[in-house]
Amino acid sequence: MTDQSFDVVVIGAGPAGSAAARRACDLGLSVALIDKAVFPRPKLCGALVSPRGNKAVRRVFDMEMTPEMYLVSRQVAFKWDGEELNRFDAPYDLTYTYRLDFDHWLQRAAVAAGAVDMQGTRVERILDGESAIVLADGTRIGYGVLVGADGAASPVAKHILGAAFDPEKIGFAFETEVPGGCEAEALMSIDFDIVRWGYGWNFPKAGSRTIGLGAIRSVDQDLKALMARYLAHEGVDAASVTIKGAHIPLGDFKEHPGKGNILLVGDAAGFVDGITGEGIALAIESGAEAAEAAAQVIAEGRVQRADRAYVRRIRYIQSDLERVRRLRVIAYKSAMRDLFREKLRTSDLMRSSLFEVLAGEATYADIEKKVAKRAFMSVARGLSSWPSKLSRRAG
Ligand SMILES: Cc1cc2nc3c(=O)[nH]c(=O)nc-3n(C[C@H](O)[C@H](O)[C@H](O)COP(=O)(O)OP(=O)(O)OC[C@H]3O[C@@H](n4cnc5c(N)ncnc54)[C@H](O)[C@@H]3O)c2cc1C
Repeated sequence: MTDQSFDVVVIGAGPAGSAAARRACDLGLSVALIDKAVFPRPKLCGALVSPRGNKAVRRVFDMEMTPEMYLVSRQVAFKWDGEELNRFDAPYDLTYTYRLDFDHWLQRAAVAAGAVDMQGTRVERILDGESAIVLADGTRIGYGVLVGADGAASPVAKHILGAAFDPEKIGFAFETEVPGGCEAEALMSIDFDIVRWGYGWNFPKAGSRTIGLGAIRSVDQDLKALMARYLAHEGVDAASVTIKGAHIPLGDFKEHPGKGNILLVGDAAGFVDGITGEGIALAIESGAEAAEAAAQVIAEGRVQRADRAYVRRIRYIQSDLERVRRLRVIAYKSAMRDLFREKLRTSDLMRSSLFEVLAGEATYADIEKKVAKRAFMSVARGLSSWPSKLSRRAG
């Protein structure tokens, strides 16, 4: 088989891989975009593309979803094991799509920019000593930088780190498509008490409703039975639909997602927000950062420093995910459940913070500051009222 060589070889053409390939092409690099699947291919996902996700698409691909690609709605309900806590309008449009179309659209855009399209191709071996991979048909492909964008069970992560993820920390999700299209402005709901250490979602789509739940895998609970219970809450007979399951790498992001000239992006790096469950935006952002890092080290002639250049570029993603880990403990610890429920029902701050994060307008660091400021103000108000309270008591 003929040998080939590229500046950047990307394994996996989901949002992370297509973003890496697209940005690398835009930076003038030669790129191969490999996926074992043939597109359009299905991917289990709620496919709520947040404003942060839409912004990332605009920034990296210079494209915008057209209205026939999504259903739009602002209607949101928070639930607690089936009970509706409140219903409100999101401060902006939420867009619900299908990954079958969305991922194909991004993959085509990367190929249109010059990436060599190698879909339906399985990678057999990674020869990192030689900076080359071998495909199932024996073709050897050399690379300057290899980008592992191959999802939660990433063979590339397994190759460089020994395991794709820590089974104690990763999440698992069940999901189903309930037939029957929705109108624009149909209600979406999140149930925060249907599972422990996770939640359920019911998203409106143009041709169905996507209903699922996900939680940390190591928590002792029967997710399948809970999925049936959740579907019953949502008015769906579990026996009438096809339920599928998949890992979701929330809670296990990699602190050093790379080794020399091999980089991990998106789910392969564990870049999923453990509170909102969002992974699409982080996949696109990290894919583009990997391409930037690759371009830098190739220009410097120091490809073995790609991991260091990449890690410097993604600190903003990692430091936020670190905060998510801490905040999640507060939200999900049993001792905090009543308070969490009450805050979901009444707290404007919690609601607005969630939507600011989804919009990419605030980081969890900003939210922490805001919460600390509010706590400080309330203590300060308490202290300032002491003199009058004391004098009232004295009187
Ligand atoms: C049930 C569920 C619901 C979710 N809902 C949402 C949501 O509503 N909004 C949101 O933002 N995020 C959501 N996520 C998270 C989101 O799906 C992921 O974070 C996102 O898909 C990550 O993109 P990626 O490109 O890194 O990986 P993927 O999209 O998984 O793409 C990986 C690609 O690699 C390919 N591949 C794998 N192995 C190989 C190999 N050996 N050789 C070649 N190719 C290979 C696969 O075929 C695939 O195309 C959800 C996840 C799950 C599981």
